[in-house]
Amino acid sequence: MKSKSSGTEWVTNYKITQLQNYKFLFREQTLKPEFRIGYGWDSHEFKPGIPLKIGGLTLPHDQGLGGHSDGDVLLHAITDALLGAIAGPDIGSLFPPSDAQWKNADSSLFLQEALQRVKSAGYELLNLDSTLILSAPKIGPHAGAIRKHVAELCGIPADCVGIKAKTPEGMGTENAAIANVVVLLKRAGLKNTEDLDDVLTAIGTQRV
Ligand code: MG
Repeated sequence: MKSKSSGTEWVTNYKITQLQNYKFLFREQTLKPEFRIGYGWDSHEFKPGIPLKIGGLTLPHDQGLGGHSDGDVLLHAITDALLGAIAGPDIGSLFPPSDAQWKNADSSLFLQEALQRVKSAGYELLNLDSTLILSAPKIGPHAGAIRKHVAELCGIPADCVGIKAKTPEGMGTENAAIANVVVLLKRAGLKNTEDLDDVLTAIGTQRV
């Protein structure tokens, strides 16, 4: 490993072979903020003839949410909140609607990419909270199932996932579903060489 060459430039192609390199990486990780928050927002329009996907589940309803992918407004907002927490590119930059490969894509793919980027940045998700705004269907009867599924997708306990819903009274957005999400990340500890590889990747991504 080579050392810092200036205040902002790092040489990235180093091997971890010496104790001092582990110490260097440990110091890099512990110098990061211990917590980071992220916020995500998304909206999709209701359209007939397509399934309604929210939080990775298909809910019974006579309309679904349109979009280039499966239109899962909640998973999109969670994805953007995670990316925002690490100051990453947003979901539209990573998965542009102009790219045919994301046509009808399962939005859990977007979420997994964001979670991988969080890990690579040296952080882990502690909890998330969400508020959906839609006139129908009622989310209450499905909130428990959505909470459980989102928690599984994110690899966190179900009691670390908030699922709330409101109706759009006075907003004039009855034909849309809106999702607001906040996430809290905690700095990850260095536990094994795989983590060290992730930190190396993060350093290379952020400093060069
Ligand atoms: Mg979206």
